Amino acid sequence: MRFARIPRMTRFLDPRQNYAETTIESEIRLDPLTGFSGRIAHFGSGARPEVDVESLNQASLTHGCPFCPDLVEQVTPKFPPAIAADGRFRRGEALVFPNLSPYDAHSAVTVISRSHLMRPGDFAAKHWEDALAASVEYFGAVNRAEHHIGYGLIAGNYMPMAGASLLHPHLQIYATDRPGNWLQGQIDAARQYYQTEGRIFWQDLIVEEKSQGQRYLGATGAVEWLVPFVPLSFIGDIEAVFPHRYSILDLNAEDRHDFARGLAQVLRYMSENRLYSFNIGFYPGESEQDRTWVHTRISFRGSFNPALNSADISAIRQLYDEPFTIVYPEELAQELRPYFAG
Ligand SMILES: [Zn+2]
Repeated sequence: MRFARIPRMTRFLDPRQNYAETTIESEIRLDPLTGFSGRIAHFGSGARPEVDVESLNQASLTHGCPFCPDLVEQVTPKFPPAIAADGRFRRGEALVFPNLSPYDAHSAVTVISRSHLMRPGDFAAKHWEDALAASVEYFGAVNRAEHHIGYGLIAGNYMPMAGASLLHPHLQIYATDRPGNWLQGQIDAARQYYQTEGRIFWQDLIVEEKSQGQRYLGATGAVEWLVPFVPLSFIGDIEAVFPHRYSILDLNAEDRHDFARGLAQVLRYMSENRLYSFNIGFYPGESEQDRTWVHTRISFRGSFNPALNSADISAIRQLYDEPFTIVYPEELAQELRPYFAG
């Protein structure tokens, strides 16, 4: 397994130092599974100002919220009886119903909480545990009806900076035989790895990350946590790995509980570090044949220039598909590790 780092050095005459010659370091990294590249650059451009969550909240309530308890049962669709006898799936505060704007034939929304506004520190692990349980129950129902789900994808955009069009916390979940470019690339590479090495990539990754000790965070039960070598977000990603779980349907009650405990720790880190927004994505295989352990990425989101509401995705990411990150993953891991201790 190779963690390739390609250092780059830029020289220029620096106006901030009376035009003395200065050198700036950056780095290109290659993902150890896929070989996809990413850049670590632009250091120090990442001051994290406070976000006025209350004014977002006010704006979000101007036209009412379809996911709030007083409206959700009246304005969201119901599943046909073949999927859900009473139309929706419920667990604790979580509610699953069909997505009005589907991504695929089987496409749903999981509302996570009854409360409309949930700051990162407001979530209990139980919110996520229940949301995952209800989502997996939905995939199970699709599987019973269709005898097949393909890839059961669970994705989330938490807060507008992560692409959410509604503030109320929710997940997009869908079953598809087309897992998308990124996951397909991982699965192709994981199958190749298995053919060459005779082992599952993620098994080796965890052994290697534990032994290097630079990006490994810890475990919650059986779930392993680390900071990926090549992040997708400009302010860093976190990855959770579910050992020996291949399909989304393999995630049992204990797995969901263990994962939710770890995610609650990440959310605590966020609330203490002016991080307001993230994307979350589960990457399952279709079956053991994909040689892919279920893993999850949490990708922090923000703004390049909050005064202008600048998006954090510019041409390099949007058009060249090249992520860049302004913090070293190893430094992010150092900050996060205490949250996973004990
Ligand atoms: Zn709401």
